[in-house]
Amino acid sequence: MTMKNQTLTIAVLPGDGIGREVMPACLELVEAAVAIVGAPALAFQSHAAGAQYYAESGDALPRSTLAACRAADAILFGAMGWPDIRYPDGTEIIPQLDLRMELGLFAGVRPIRWFPGLPRVLTDPRAENIDFVLIREQTEGLFYARGRGEIRNDEEAYDTMQITRSGTERVVEFAFQLAAQRKRRGRPGNVTCVDKANVFQSMAFFRKVFDEVAARHTEMTKDHAYVDALALNMVKKPWVFDVLVTENMFGDILSDLAAGLIGGMGMAPSADIGEKHGLFQPAHGTAPDIAGKGFANPSAMFLSAAMMLDWLAARHGEQTLSDAARLIEEAVERTLSTKLAVPMEYGGSANCAEMTRSVIDSLEAVRREVA
Ligand code: ATP
Repeated sequence: MTMKNQTLTIAVLPGDGIGREVMPACLELVEAAVAIVGAPALAFQSHAAGAQYYAESGDALPRSTLAACRAADAILFGAMGWPDIRYPDGTEIIPQLDLRMELGLFAGVRPIRWFPGLPRVLTDPRAENIDFVLIREQTEGLFYARGRGEIRNDEEAYDTMQITRSGTERVVEFAFQLAAQRKRRGRPGNVTCVDKANVFQSMAFFRKVFDEVAARHTEMTKDHAYVDALALNMVKKPWVFDVLVTENMFGDILSDLAAGLIGGMGMAPSADIGEKHGLFQPAHGTAPDIAGKGFANPSAMFLSAAMMLDWLAARHGEQTLSDAARLIEEAVERTLSTKLAVPMEYGGSANCAEMTRSVIDSLEAVRREVA
């Protein structure tokens, strides 16, 4: 596919809470970065969805929004959900889970990399070498139980874990491909299977399928870790990891732990990737404790948009979009490393607006440095 005469359409879903604060900031930044590198402009189209919209309309993910996501070239997503707004059965409004299933977004990609300016959460100097990607399977695992759980006589509760061969194969294959790309940039080219194969049949099967896929990638190395030991090592020596692949629920938990290694949820970007679609969102939620105050750190949203630009660049053969991605990443790094603005999230005074202004102002400076 080529970009000639084609405007890429981005479905924009700000959602709830701080999603509504970091999204406008992000669109302003992306527009500025795209203009500076001379990349084709993107057509942003905002769509309603989320808990607030559910409270107003009775619909959390309107059919028109889902259709727009399907038709778009990529989806930019803020955050959705709100503690006080729930479905009649008491469950939370989480349209992002529905989008993952509807669009087949099987790979949750969560890069965790330390760079100067981020807090040094771990005292060991090797923590500066943290650079790994956690791949979370997103269409099955324990989340298969969502909407299927059972409580018997108010005495017993059951949620079933589903691991399929095809679901495991595709996410493990994705992990190896990513490790291969990273290896070309000097990373180790290793994939770690994170499971609990010593206890559960489902997890032993996950590991078996992992090993079968790994056997097709002889140029890469692999290893295995039980999720409990992995959690320990993620705190003790996270710099040894390259690419990790794991089941849905384990990935959910480990990705929040991983974000803590680089200062908090406001620094952790993510991408939800499928065969046809890509959705890009910060790893954080709606942060009800700080929503509406303007305190949110928009960096995770910015870095997620950079992931989107890279993904679009690869799909459409448009190098300038990748240039815009690098510019955004470097502007975030410059802002943090030179302390032009220190986010409130880790003790500074810069709110969302000040962080945004500082990153946008840094775009030109970064451009001059690389020119
Ligand atoms: P979800 O279940 O939707 O993932 P959550 O309730 O687990 O959400 P978050 O909304 O991610 O959690 O918030 C966790 C903590 O991190 C909160 O204290 C929140 O204020 C903080 N936080 C999350 N995102 C940011 C951000 N962008 N800037 C500053 N603090 C943030």
